[in-house]
Amino acid sequence: MNWIQRLFTRPAGPTRRADMEAESRQWLTRCLTCGHISNVWEMGGVRYKAAGQSRNLLFCKPCGRKRCHLIYWGGPTGAPGAPEATGAPLKTTDTKTTGGSP
Ligand SMILES: [Zn+2]
Repeated sequence: MNWIQRLFTRPAGPTRRADMEAESRQWLTRCLTCGHISNVWEMGGVRYKAAGQSRNLLFCKPCGRKRCHLIYWGGPTGAPGAPEATGAPLKTTDTKTTGGSP
């Protein structure tokens, strides 16, 4: 936990703090350059009671520099506090095709 996460989670009680961490881990970040997927908590941030998608300039480990990232809800249900019609969470498309012969 870095100082930003401590700053935002300290006023909350221990129960809500755990909730904030759990929810932040469900918000996924995807590097728009290399496609690396992480989550907001791992990236050192906090995202709680948020909705929708956003694009942020974040440091990407594989790229070794700041890159534009898409932040989106990766939880099992709709984003917390968001209407159902916000859109399904993005999924990595499996481009691998198996050439199964009959
Ligand atoms: Zn990257």
